Amino acid sequence: MPSSPDVAVVGAGIVGCAVAAFLAEAGATVTLVERDEVASGASGRNSGVVQHPMDPALLHLFTETVGHYRHLAAHGFALPAEPHGLLLVAEDEAALAGELAAIRRGYPELAAEALAAGEPGKLEPALAPDLAAVRLHTGYAVPPAAATRAFAARAQAAGARLRIGEHAALASGGLAVGAERLAAGAVVVAAGPWTPELVDPSGTWRPIMPIWGVNVEVRLAAPPRHALEEIGVEQLIARRGDPPPLFSLITAEGTSSLGSTFLPRKPDAVALAPSLRERGTRFVPELGATPIVSVRACARPHAADGRPLLGRAPGIDDVFVAAGHGPWGISLGPASARLLADLVLGREAAPPAVFEPARFAR
Ligand SMILES: Cc1cc2nc3c(=O)[nH]c(=O)nc-3n(C[C@H](O)[C@H](O)[C@H](O)COP(=O)(O)OP(=O)(O)OC[C@H]3O[C@@H](n4cnc5c(N)ncnc54)[C@H](O)[C@@H]3O)c2cc1C
Repeated sequence: MPSSPDVAVVGAGIVGCAVAAFLAEAGATVTLVERDEVASGASGRNSGVVQHPMDPALLHLFTETVGHYRHLAAHGFALPAEPHGLLLVAEDEAALAGELAAIRRGYPELAAEALAAGEPGKLEPALAPDLAAVRLHTGYAVPPAAATRAFAARAQAAGARLRIGEHAALASGGLAVGAERLAAGAVVVAAGPWTPELVDPSGTWRPIMPIWGVNVEVRLAAPPRHALEEIGVEQLIARRGDPPPLFSLITAEGTSSLGSTFLPRKPDAVALAPSLRERGTRFVPELGATPIVSVRACARPHAADGRPLLGRAPGIDDVFVAAGHGPWGISLGPASARLLADLVLGREAAPPAVFEPARFAR
């Protein structure tokens, strides 16, 4: 292996693994450095649904990502042919009216369908009988870490070198990896919520904040097929302080991820798990009698304006940033990675301005 790669990538989440794969497949010599394990961050601890982001600026990233996922079967990831469907559920039918109208107006492709109180329970017998819902034509349920692992395998198959269990920091002309200097033609920082501290250890530039989520893994006897989400996530993400949890449940390959929280500080996941299950029981009664298999907490990399940062790191030559996908990284990350790889390779002059990292001044 050459000691000076063309590109060093920091972070083996969905974004870093996909960037490494695209660069290596284009002929670059790539080293990917991960301090923990592949998919050890949010990319392995998410809820596992690939879904429409409901933001016009992000829509093309979603569409392209679905396309990328169609080409991962050889590396162990297969996206279902059709979405399982997303049910936005509520105890109160009136709470859905505003959301339904906005989605119908903004995203006719989602074929939003109103389900009056009682109807969702006929569609999904696991649901409490009195709930109302909006059904959307989106939401592919997938095992949370599967796409990231597949991109890591694809990167390796294309010749990328993975250095796992090693901490990286920016250094002049490349990276400091542990005690070693790794000279590199370019560096891509795809370190999720930890990206700003790599780019600016002084602490001044902080456009991406962690929003902590707790997910509880359960195995239901009769899990719902749709992805389930309690109405109100958007408002919760925008709220300051410690908002209460919202119910979500996504099932892939027989295992369900029950969520979730949106907290500014790392929570005690084990202590929170019973309250998530209790809340979930109001929507899926079987949860009350279902043992908890495991609990996980992880930070969503939340950009201050809700859109990823893709491009040159402000004020640092040959360093690029690919991070800040918040709750959408599995749904958008591969397309972002392709954009960033094209920029590093000189195929694109710049990604769309809406993703420019320098929109947040240092
Ligand atoms: C509870 C929860 C549920 C979610 N559900 C969904 C969902 O259903 N659908 C969806 O699309 N998205 C979901 N998301 C969001 C999605 O998981 C993230 O947006 C995405 O995984 C972020 O990927 P990333 O590659 O940017 O960062 P990460 O996955 O955080 O990866 C960054 C990596 O960088 C490494 N790293 C950091 N610093 C260093 C360093 N100095 N040296 C070496 N390595 C370093 C970390 O160890 C980590 O592995 C969810 C997130 C959470 C927390």
